[in-house]
Amino acid sequence: MDSALFIGSIGLIVIGLILYIIESANVIKVSDLQIPTDRFVSLVFKWCEANIGNSPKHYKIKVFQSVDKKMAGQYICERNQIDIYFFEELPLIELVDSCIHEYTHHLQFSDTDTESEYYKWDKGFVIG
Ligand SMILES: [Zn+2]
Repeated sequence: MDSALFIGSIGLIVIGLILYIIESANVIKVSDLQIPTDRFVSLVFKWCEANIGNSPKHYKIKVFQSVDKKMAGQYICERNQIDIYFFEELPLIELVDSCIHEYTHHLQFSDTDTESEYYKWDKGFVIG
């Protein structure tokens, strides 16, 4: 490999690393929130109701601090309950994504046909 190509390759790697560092420093995380996380989560669900669609079926939201950082959210059909899990370093965009995901399950299960079809095939009451 000639030296110009070698120096060019190293330069690209360094630029890539710098861009990676700048980008990860700019990610807004749960720890950056200026309001309590459960308050933020309830505002996200208000946004969902106003922008994705609403259903007369009532649902409960429970917000938990995740210990193993593996679980993002789940919908418990039996109780019409949405569980949302977070940890301090979780990017806010991922928290919002989980809320929208679980809200979609709530809407799916607000439709009686979908609900009965689901129970025909699956006896479980929890959806990820
Ligand atoms: Zn799901």
